[in-house]
Amino acid sequence: MKQQPSAFHLMAKPSGSACNLNCAYCFFLKKEKLYPGSHFRMADEVHEAYIKQLLEAHQTPEVTIAWQGGEPTLVGLDFFRRSLELQKRYQKPGTRIENTFQTNGVLLNDEWCRFFQENKFLIGLSLDGPRELHDFYRKDKGGHGTFDRVVRAARLLQKHKVEFNILCTVSSKNGEHPLRVYRFFRDELATHYIQFIPIVERDNESGFQEGNTVTDRSLGPDQWGRFLIEIFDEWVKRDVGRTFVVNFDGALAGWLGMAGTVCIFGPTCGLALALEHNGDLYSCDHFVEPNHFLGNILTTPMNELVASAKQKNFGQDKKDRLPRYCRECEFLFVCNGECPKNRFIPTPDGEPEWNYLCAGYKAFFKHADRPMKIMADLIRRGRSAEEVMGILDMEGKNIRAKFEKAGRNDPCPCGATDEGGKPKKFKKCHGK
Ligand code: SF4
Ligand code: SF4
Repeated sequence: MKQQPSAFHLMAKPSGSACNLNCAYCFFLKKEKLYPGSHFRMADEVHEAYIKQLLEAHQTPEVTIAWQGGEPTLVGLDFFRRSLELQKRYQKPGTRIENTFQTNGVLLNDEWCRFFQENKFLIGLSLDGPRELHDFYRKDKGGHGTFDRVVRAARLLQKHKVEFNILCTVSSKNGEHPLRVYRFFRDELATHYIQFIPIVERDNESGFQEGNTVTDRSLGPDQWGRFLIEIFDEWVKRDVGRTFVVNFDGALAGWLGMAGTVCIFGPTCGLALALEHNGDLYSCDHFVEPNHFLGNILTTPMNELVASAKQKNFGQDKKDRLPRYCRECEFLFVCNGECPKNRFIPTPDGEPEWNYLCAGYKAFFKHADRPMKIMADLIRRGRSAEEVMGILDMEGKNIRAKFEKAGRNDPCPCGATDEGGKPKKFKKCHGK
């Protein structure tokens, strides 16, 4: 008998790829072609099989039931009322179930929000920043911006005290404005859970992970690095412990020796699958394509598909196919070559499957290294990561004081050396 994982993450798409918006960069709209003529609605038979099999397969006290799309609100609230009945029926004694729900927010109203609040759904709301940046790509089918409707949804969720995270896709457009985007979420929207998702969109008609060119909407590797660095600098000085940025928490786990709290930074993957509306199971939400089709849960039990050799190889390939350039990288411990979907360029020495975003990640990891080390050290000693803010502030003040006192011929307080390795004089360095 194949060894089955005690837990895994599965994103279910009750409305398949169907969506009420037409965001320019959406990779899922093209998946419609996989199911020609479909009504894109999960039938009750699939729904029941999904909940039953998912709850049976988990050997952990907590199970997450993740709803995603397309746009899951399109199947209507009664679908989720029915889901709670099914969850109750198949819940094992002593387990706790949490529903997560990713939405564009457009259809949310008081009734949806009351339901979410009463049943403790955790919502992910897609928003790309202030109006002009959000509306640039996130449009409805009539070509109109959706900013007002999404912000209205955020306010409704807040009114009903529903917990929600912001999912911000970072494109070549909003990628140029990191602080505007971050401050908008923190200060104007007053939300404190944010995840940034880089848009790396292959330029092809299939919508699959094929080819090695990207669209103009995709952000560049260096742009991604600058985006992370600018937000990190603001966050680490004033927001640690108050605003949660998934990208930074996921990286910090690497400095704590626990890389993989987010799948992209794990050494292997394969435990984050996607379930289509008709019961078809795929290796990952980013690989809903024929080569990564595992089977249908109506004919093969989900736990067999999750434990299948095909899925194990998919997850293990993340490690086994890593180019030498990554294996020898000083940041392998945190990055692990990041997500295989972004590995499609050759390394400087010509090996294939190097990560398109590498330059950005490397710059960010280098930049964040010291504060990350400080935070990891604090946590290991049972202290709070928030203390990093005071430590960096103190260091900044000390350095400023040293600069103020430095004489023209003194060694520069920044510690720079000349080509011969001698300390640079202040007058020839920062005192210029
Ligand atoms: S392919 Fe990427 S997104 Fe999918 S499970 Fe692996 S690391 Fe995660
Ligand atoms: S930073 Fe770049 S070289 Fe290093 S592991 Fe990540 S993708 Fe590979």
